[in-house]
Amino acid sequence: MGTELLESLADAYGTPLYVLDLDRLHHNLVSVSQALAPARVLYSFKTNYLPQVTAAVREHGLGMDVVSGYELREALRRGFAGSALAFNGPVKLPPELTLAVETGTFVNIDAEHEIGALAQLAQAQRTVLDVGLRIFPSEDVYSPVGSVRSRQLPSKFGWPIADGDAERIGCRIAATPQLRLTGLHVHLGSQIVNQEALERALRSVLRWAAESPFRPHLERLNLGGGFGVAGIQRLGSASGPSQVATPAGHGAPRSLDLAGLWAAVRQELADTGLDDLNVWFEPGRVLVSDAISLLTSVAGIKHTSAGTWVLLDGGLNLLPTAGTTETHRFEALRSGAPESDVFIGGPLCYEGDVFSLKASLPSDVRIRDRVLIHDAGAYSITRATSFNRPRAAAVAVRQGTASLCWRRETDEDIFGFVVDEPMVSVPW
Ligand SMILES: *Cc1c(COP(=O)(O)O)cnc(C)c1O
Repeated sequence: MGTELLESLADAYGTPLYVLDLDRLHHNLVSVSQALAPARVLYSFKTNYLPQVTAAVREHGLGMDVVSGYELREALRRGFAGSALAFNGPVKLPPELTLAVETGTFVNIDAEHEIGALAQLAQAQRTVLDVGLRIFPSEDVYSPVGSVRSRQLPSKFGWPIADGDAERIGCRIAATPQLRLTGLHVHLGSQIVNQEALERALRSVLRWAAESPFRPHLERLNLGGGFGVAGIQRLGSASGPSQVATPAGHGAPRSLDLAGLWAAVRQELADTGLDDLNVWFEPGRVLVSDAISLLTSVAGIKHTSAGTWVLLDGGLNLLPTAGTTETHRFEALRSGAPESDVFIGGPLCYEGDVFSLKASLPSDVRIRDRVLIHDAGAYSITRATSFNRPRAAAVAVRQGTASLCWRRETDEDIFGFVVDEPMVSVPW
């Protein structure tokens, strides 16, 4: 998107501002669908639920992955049929399961009590319900590129296949007369860039599925999302060392070769005799990440003996996954002077509100210059908070035309939760 266009968007709508490039979004929807064809592709609603995003998703015939009641209700309201949805997540509340069953939304069971709850709903409808089970393999997809480790941490998602948990829970479902275990589901993380590790993890899922007692009834495999993009680099663990210490293997930016991944999965499906199954994928980030940038203005500059701080008017409340362990590309719209090293922070009153301790911007950077933060499409608007500063507006741009599609938060929004009621005695 051109610098002049971005400058005029900043003038017209103010900053900070999310800028949605609809041309790029449509391009991504086409290229990801093509790379994964003929698998069914579901877009992950929680990644970014701007109406323009989900409208484009629908236009291209993708389904949707939802993980809560409001996501399920909103996806249905936006015209997605229940049959185009998968309902995932570690917790699904009774009314959410009821709505899922009523609308024909496929549920991937994660918590044990969902078995009984779904069986009751099926019984009430006098039907037998097809369900899936979320499982997980022991390969760690976050291993540095070039290596594969075993998963260290316990996971609250899914049932491990290695120690028999997945088979035990699967047998409980299979023994429930109102349910049919026709699906298996895995989703292994986000911003995964180690293709070899992901392929290996999916291979072990397929091998397990082929040998499992559930194989005869299986109709679908949902292999999740988590595909990494090149514009974001994760350094160390989210809670670990900052980018000052770069772990080996995290050098160049990487993204996944989706067509290559799918070819490897298809080979394994053939080898394990699972090629009659319908495969679903659930990407979020790879579809929207580079379709949205966060347009900010320089609001403060501090030259200290430790270095120069450039403080933007948009902070980590607008891009909560960013920070010193997840780097994004910064672009100064007014450029010309050679770049020099700077620290880039946001405007919030908390120490963690730092985008980068290792960035560079033109050495003549000044207040009100515009700085674009690339790859701000995933887990930004949907995870934004009003801590210290309001949530930002979003503008959609298509072929040189623009329209505001999400307004900036107001004081009334922030303080609109106030309820003024007299104190009453609480019986106990
Ligand atoms: C969040 C989520 C996704 C999308 O993950 P990305 O990393 O954005 O591709 C897919 N499936 C499930 C179950 C999720 O929770």
